[in-house]
Amino acid sequence: MAGLILDADDIGPAKIIQVREPGIGLEAVLVVDNVARGPAIGGLRMAPDVTTAECMRLARAMTLKNSCAGLAHGGAKSVLIGDPRQPRAHKERLIRAFAWMLRNESDYIFGPDMGTDETCMAWVQDEIGRAVGLPVELGGIPLDELGATGWGLAQCAEIAAPACGLQLDGARVAIQGYGAVGRHAARFLAERGARLVAASDTRGTIAQRGGLDVAELTALKMRGASVLDYAGGERLAQDALLDVDCDIWIPAARPDVLREDNAARLRTRLVLQGANIPFTAGAERLLAARGVLVIPDFVANAGGVICAAMEYHGATRGAAFDAIAEKIRANTTAVIDTAAAQRILPREAATALALEGVRRAMKLRRWTAGAVSVNPNGCVCAP
Ligand code: NAD
Repeated sequence: MAGLILDADDIGPAKIIQVREPGIGLEAVLVVDNVARGPAIGGLRMAPDVTTAECMRLARAMTLKNSCAGLAHGGAKSVLIGDPRQPRAHKERLIRAFAWMLRNESDYIFGPDMGTDETCMAWVQDEIGRAVGLPVELGGIPLDELGATGWGLAQCAEIAAPACGLQLDGARVAIQGYGAVGRHAARFLAERGARLVAASDTRGTIAQRGGLDVAELTALKMRGASVLDYAGGERLAQDALLDVDCDIWIPAARPDVLREDNAARLRTRLVLQGANIPFTAGAERLLAARGVLVIPDFVANAGGVICAAMEYHGATRGAAFDAIAEKIRANTTAVIDTAAAQRILPREAATALALEGVRRAMKLRRWTAGAVSVNPNGCVCAP
């Protein structure tokens, strides 16, 4: 076993499944990291530059996130190569084909992620009846429309801000990636008196010291425009968001945006990781050494998956939002307290908390990480 699956450890991955259908240009991967707690929930990411390595790291992040949130679900992720803004008919064909090829993969429940949404999940549901993050018409709780993850980030901010001597009322916030996560985080934080001083998207950064109008910026983005089309403010390059002087910095876009080579540029006191795996481990160590409090992704951004799991088990949206608040507030408190008491990084504290839940569940299972399966290349995976 050793050496066949790169980067494998005692937790996972349980399975890696590669899917290709050259006839329609489908190239996709599913990584099921660990299903000891139950069938894995994890998003389907569509982007031109996704990789299997990224998928593996994201799948592990889901194992930790679902365990930390106390969900009866393991962690997985799937990625599909392609431009998410391609003509709808072809995107639908790709997603339906991918879902169909995974029709027997009962360890995996599809969810939305970057480049996919409720409609995409409706296609998956139609093909194989195994998706969360569904449209209301199919009994779903539209988590991106309601802003489940942004709601969770605001809960996290309410606990973490005072822990680093900040008041949310008047706090200056900068958000990288003004999409589903970023814009709702901006809205919920603005409701608590925070001031959005900068936001970015793939085209650039808009900054205004006195504060941007969150509703106006959101309306712009919803019309398909860029943050650069905002009337007023200062237009800057995409990565200028790193240099913005602020109190709370929220990555809500891609992995590894902060690394050892650019971590020194960040001028903030608190980071709430809205995106998954947005910083390298080295960058987080550098920030900790400077006294910047970083609440890790799988604690801070768990709102979406908690909402999805609640939907899967038939809960109402009110119950889902209450559960998000309860779980994220408790976990943020536990992580900050443990990190301070043991003089370790918040990520180390959070990882220990999450892994404890996974390992306890693994002891109750016959197969440690999940069931055995054979992928299309004939590789049998059972740690
Ligand atoms: P989205 O596609 O709705 O929005 C992403 C935004 O980021 C877009 O506005 C895009 O223009 C921008 N962007 C992309 N690359 C960028 C870059 N390099 N610099 C600046 N902006 C950039 O996606 P989303 O659902 O908001 O997800 C964002 C991140 O949050 C992803 O990492 C996702 O995995 C993570 N996440 C999402 C949820 C959720 O509920 N949607 C939950 C947990 C984690």
